[in-house]
Amino acid sequence: MPAESPAVAPLREFIRALPKAETHLHMEGACPFELLQRADPVRHARPPVFWEESFKYTSFNQFMDLYVAYCGEFFTSAERYHDAARIVLATCAAQGCRYVETSFHLPTLLSMKDTGPEVIRAIKAAAPRGLELRVFAGMCHDTYQGAGKDLVDDALSWPELDGIDLHGCEDLPLEPWTGEVWARARRAGKFTKAHAGEFMGAGFMERILDELGVTRIEHGIRSVESQATLARLRREGIALDVCPLSNVKLAVSGIRSMADHPIRRLFDAGITVTVSSDDPFFLNNTLTQEYEALHRDLGFSRSELVRVAENSLRVALVPEHVRGAWLNELADVAVRTAVAE
Ligand SMILES: [Zn+2]
Repeated sequence: MPAESPAVAPLREFIRALPKAETHLHMEGACPFELLQRADPVRHARPPVFWEESFKYTSFNQFMDLYVAYCGEFFTSAERYHDAARIVLATCAAQGCRYVETSFHLPTLLSMKDTGPEVIRAIKAAAPRGLELRVFAGMCHDTYQGAGKDLVDDALSWPELDGIDLHGCEDLPLEPWTGEVWARARRAGKFTKAHAGEFMGAGFMERILDELGVTRIEHGIRSVESQATLARLRREGIALDVCPLSNVKLAVSGIRSMADHPIRRLFDAGITVTVSSDDPFFLNNTLTQEYEALHRDLGFSRSELVRVAENSLRVALVPEHVRGAWLNELADVAVRTAVAE
């Protein structure tokens, strides 16, 4: 780690002090490298190539290939999920997170002895004291077939499961089962969200809203291409869990650097945006760096960073008295640090 420059350290400390939430975090994509090294020291003797500063993914397929190469054989038990979650969640808490929403890839269970409830309980048992954790099952556009169909249907009955998320290749067809399963999940008391508007355009986001009935979208950045979609997001109070550094590393929709990123325009348009780290192992990022990048590259003032943190607490799935305490704490931090604008 390079030494912190004196100019950056105060901002970093300010960001750490903000009570906030990480609401877009894939457990497999956050896999701690030290666990991979411990499992296979020879294979993982060197840092991954995608940790290099200048590295950019050439496609989502390349990202998925590297995911399989590094983590495809790691998540084989509830214990492995627990070990990963313990490190990942401690890292979140150390950055001032009060709440984390993480997903695991549901079809991973198809080749595992442990059950879904066992995996979820193992992840939840890894949360440090004081951190609220919600666990989501992530599935792809084509998961609902064969054994995958039975698994999804079963998952909706697990009391341990907090919600479901649609992820994976966004340009695979959106199949008719999806809307029915999403509605059934809500009736079963699960929160529902979906990835959209990362690779596909605003039209696809509109379909996700119409057919899946979600109130939160993961990424959603291409909504900036449609005034009508932006107006709808505002009108319906749809929040976007944005991961700017992820979008830069994957160069989605022509975003080559933070300066190109539309989150400033989304924020200024009155959309409820949060920031999260997405897949920090594969992106070599932290939640703190996401906030730093907003400030450094897109001119977010400290009070605007407070509003982003506030958005993240407002979308958290917690009782209102818990949210209220966090918001009071956030207001205190904002007042204490207002002079440093
Ligand atoms: Zn994601």
